[in-house]
Amino acid sequence: MDIRQCKRCGKVFQFSGSTLCPKCVREVDKQFDDVRNFLYDNPHSTLETVVEETKVNAQDIKRWLKEGRLILTGDSTAMIQCESCGKPILTGKLCETCAVQAKCGILSLGLLKKESRPERKSTELQGVLKKKCMLRYVNLNNA
Ligand SMILES: [Zn+2]
Ligand SMILES: [Zn+2]
Repeated sequence: MDIRQCKRCGKVFQFSGSTLCPKCVREVDKQFDDVRNFLYDNPHSTLETVVEETKVNAQDIKRWLKEGRLILTGDSTAMIQCESCGKPILTGKLCETCAVQAKCGILSLGLLKKESRPERKSTELQGVLKKKCMLRYVNLNNA
């Protein structure tokens, strides 16, 4: 028998795939529903209002947004920030610009290593790569 300690309330429980005990799983599910329902009725609420009205921890709400579990509609108030530049975003961990840069960064590193011609400045090359990445990213998004 696999016994774990609940990450939320600290009680020990029989492990069944979740890091929370069954009671906490139910409570968190209910909290999630409360937040989702509240946002459904009040889509322009700020994080402070949601916390005040639903009594749900701000950290939990932010986590759901980052995990993409809780999704805000296009004209909602942003409640989380890009982990790279701090710009307000609706969902995920990075804003669109930083997501492209993160992708391009990985691509450029590989390509820069292959590029051996010394006459070609690395900044110039990065510009070229960025354009290529941007196109690739846009194409992926439209696909
Ligand atoms: Zn618990
Ligand atoms: Zn960003």
